[in-house]
Amino acid sequence: MNMTLVTDREKLRAWLEGLHARGRAVFPFLGPRAPRGMPDRVFPEPGSLASIKGLLLPAESLLDEPPAAGGPLLVWGVRPCDMKGVALIDEIFRKGFDDPPYEARRSRMRFAGVVCREEAPTCFCGELGVDRTDGAGMDLLVVEDGAAVFIRPLTKEGEAILSRFEAPFEVAAPSEEAGIEEIVAGIREARRREEVKGPRILKALESRRAGDALTGIADTCLVCGVCSFVCPLCWCFDVKDVPAAASGAVRVRCWDSCQLGRYARMAGGADPYLDAGARVRHRLLHKFVYIPRTYGMTGCTGCGRCARACPSGLDLREILRAVLEEAGP
Ligand code: SF4
Ligand code: SF4
Repeated sequence: MNMTLVTDREKLRAWLEGLHARGRAVFPFLGPRAPRGMPDRVFPEPGSLASIKGLLLPAESLLDEPPAAGGPLLVWGVRPCDMKGVALIDEIFRKGFDDPPYEARRSRMRFAGVVCREEAPTCFCGELGVDRTDGAGMDLLVVEDGAAVFIRPLTKEGEAILSRFEAPFEVAAPSEEAGIEEIVAGIREARRREEVKGPRILKALESRRAGDALTGIADTCLVCGVCSFVCPLCWCFDVKDVPAAASGAVRVRCWDSCQLGRYARMAGGADPYLDAGARVRHRLLHKFVYIPRTYGMTGCTGCGRCARACPSGLDLREILRAVLEEAGP
């Protein structure tokens, strides 16, 4: 990594507040419907449900949304697991076809990510090979350490943000820099001891030997779609015409979910995913087989949001454990 800079929390907060007031900083961990407010704390709580997805793909937006005006926008407090979501959603919306509203939103974003020092009980990113210190895709990497906050520019755009917006950082002393290296090395060492299960899950699901593990889900799932809506790696959307006073109607793009009934219904009424068990199975196959085969990355980062949000208490970790058990060694 490059040079390390340091400041204290008060100065950081004042700086972010100033940027926010000028429309130059957003905090995705606040929630998809209120991503522009200034939070009480400037780092995401472990287990916060909201993610960067609400900024990249708003829950509802006009299909012909006019391009977002303005210069660079600092997206503060993104975790390494969520940056994997940005990478995947970029694959979908930036490659192969043009999506001007997405491109207009995305091209302004400069990511200040945080080294993840605290897990929620439902996190299982290590099992899926996510490095909690990984700065991939970020422009700035931030490490909290007591009252001090350290920041490392990882790209020229990150450096430009700090100088253009007069960030209150000083160059860290060599002893402070060594302290940060120690924190990062400690997190990586803890991760090295965990088994990465992604390839085993892919094999188990691909062999189609995970039928019984999903038995009972059809009776438990409430078909609400919340697991998809909170997932930073789910991007499905629907298009609807909504009445509007001025023009009669506007065309709106809104989140959709493969967990909702009739998602896959075809003309004539045929539907391959009639029951919830079939839909959950499809979701697993999509995230752990089809996406890895197509994009070379898993469609889940183990952030645990779906388990925290499910009103029925369905926990993806338990489902995956059952799948692995059923598949055997
Ligand atoms: S959040 Fe839970 S209940 Fe709702 S669709 Fe997903 S698995 Fe089913
Ligand atoms: S499937 Fe669940 S655990 Fe995996 S990325 Fe989506 S919300 Fe997180």
